[in-house]
Amino acid sequence: MAHTSDNVVGVDNTFRRKFDRDEYLERAREREKQEADSRVKSKSRGPPVQRKPLKHRDYEVDLDSRLGKTQVVTPVAPLSQQAGYYCSVCECVVKDSANYLDHINGKKHQRALGMSMRVERASVEQVKERFELLKKRSAPGSFTEQDLDERILKQQQEEEERKRQRREKKKEKKKEKAAEEEVDMDPDVAAMMGFGGFSSSKK
Ligand SMILES: [Zn+2]
Repeated sequence: MAHTSDNVVGVDNTFRRKFDRDEYLERAREREKQEADSRVKSKSRGPPVQRKPLKHRDYEVDLDSRLGKTQVVTPVAPLSQQAGYYCSVCECVVKDSANYLDHINGKKHQRALGMSMRVERASVEQVKERFELLKKRSAPGSFTEQDLDERILKQQQEEEERKRQRREKKKEKKKEKAAEEEVDMDPDVAAMMGFGGFSSSKK
């Protein structure tokens, strides 16, 4: 049919092209088969990733530590210092607290933490245990002094830790400021620029 023979020079190719249906059908079939094969191969490549079931958070979400603070935001600053809530796990910034909560409860974030969105099915024993625990906790009189002491101690420790962190931050800021001032007050530079200080400029 439309097989242009190789040995003819200057063949008339202005006619409407006709394609060899059979040939292309054959090629299409082959391609489909190859794709199917590769799909099977990619599926059988290693076992599927087994992610852990969903677990509850064991830390407090810090939403308001930067509340009411003023901060200079530049587009070139690292993500963690941009405006909004920064997620260090996914390295992204979310614009407000509601979206941040949505994010850390979301599929993408949980996946990054190695968890699926599936919740483990609790056994009867676990439910009973939980009930016992809650009963103990809420029953009057069962609240021992030891419990109280422990809780107070824990709170004190947390408070101390917070104070320590604040102190460290302050120290760092002081250091930065001192370094900046040193640069500012370099006398050689000042002399070069023609600033001799306020007293000497008055004659
Ligand atoms: Zn995240």
